[in-house]
Amino acid sequence: MINMNIGRRPFLQSAAAVVASGLAATAAADERTARTQPRGYRLIPCEEAFTLPEILAEARRVANNIPSMSSGPIVGPLVPLLLDLGADRLARMDAAGIDMQVLSLGSPGVQNFDTATAISLARLANDRLAETVRAHPGRYAGLATFAPQDPAAAAKELERAVQQLGLKGALVNSHTDSVYLDEPRYRPIFEALQALDVPLYIHPREPGRTLGGPALALPGFTIGWGYGVETGTHALRLIASGLFDEFPRLKIVLGHMGETIPFVLQRIDDRYRFERSLFPGGSLKRLPGDYFRENFWVTTSGMNFAAPLHATIATLGIERVLFAIDYPFEDQAIAVRSFDSIPLSDDARRRICDTNVAQLFKL
Ligand code: MN
Repeated sequence: MINMNIGRRPFLQSAAAVVASGLAATAAADERTARTQPRGYRLIPCEEAFTLPEILAEARRVANNIPSMSSGPIVGPLVPLLLDLGADRLARMDAAGIDMQVLSLGSPGVQNFDTATAISLARLANDRLAETVRAHPGRYAGLATFAPQDPAAAAKELERAVQQLGLKGALVNSHTDSVYLDEPRYRPIFEALQALDVPLYIHPREPGRTLGGPALALPGFTIGWGYGVETGTHALRLIASGLFDEFPRLKIVLGHMGETIPFVLQRIDDRYRFERSLFPGGSLKRLPGDYFRENFWVTTSGMNFAAPLHATIATLGIERVLFAIDYPFEDQAIAVRSFDSIPLSDDARRRICDTNVAQLFKL
């Protein structure tokens, strides 16, 4: 366990490994020296991305037809980091004090591909991810990918990925061809997830056609606002569809501190009551917030800041909050430093960074 008893020698060895691997990690190494107290708990961020050459090649092939970040200017410089699942990634984790990453295929995964290609590349990604976890069992865990394009095949792949490959849940990148998972044809996916008792992480991607209109096309605001609107709306559509009345033991994870939902949850419940009193019929068994508190977990990816974390803990309870970074789109050392600077009890830190993550994903 790398975070225990960090002495001078392990630090020097770790730093030497980073330099030897040819990575510029000076800032991370500075962070490492600054933290002299052992944590006494693990750091297990759970929204950490990778990709495969085969996925990247197909993403680039279809990019002429479908705009996607995976072939765009934001991801370009990060491609070597996304492709690396070996010594360099581990050295970077060491330098930032990360014990273990819960890995998932980078957005938009296989969701822009034709159905047959998506099914076959999802299998490949899950096989490769399982191999990676087997090679470094203490350092990586994995979330499966699947092709929503074929819900029945997706359910079968989820069963294979969890039962045979040992992956700990699944991740989907919001909409597929601008369609959301609340549509009835996707119910087999949720049936499988509930039966397997594993969580589904709903990860952002560029807003779909229905949400990506001119109003959201503000240069510089696409990720910071547009992605959250996209993914938060997706989550609320699942609630509104009655999904959690049908599958009450489903576990859904949202990144980026719940994609803004915790901050408006009381208002959503209040105005839901008001609207249903004006336009009754077809309503849910319970209030939207009841499902959100019972079926959802949120992570701190890209949001390791004090004010939103404290508001989220107050709204959902600390047991619903998990640590995440969003590597390589966020800098690990900066995220850890930012989280460390938030006023929290040691018990709260341990739960968010270690035990909550370990319990939900059964690590
Ligand atoms: Mn991410």
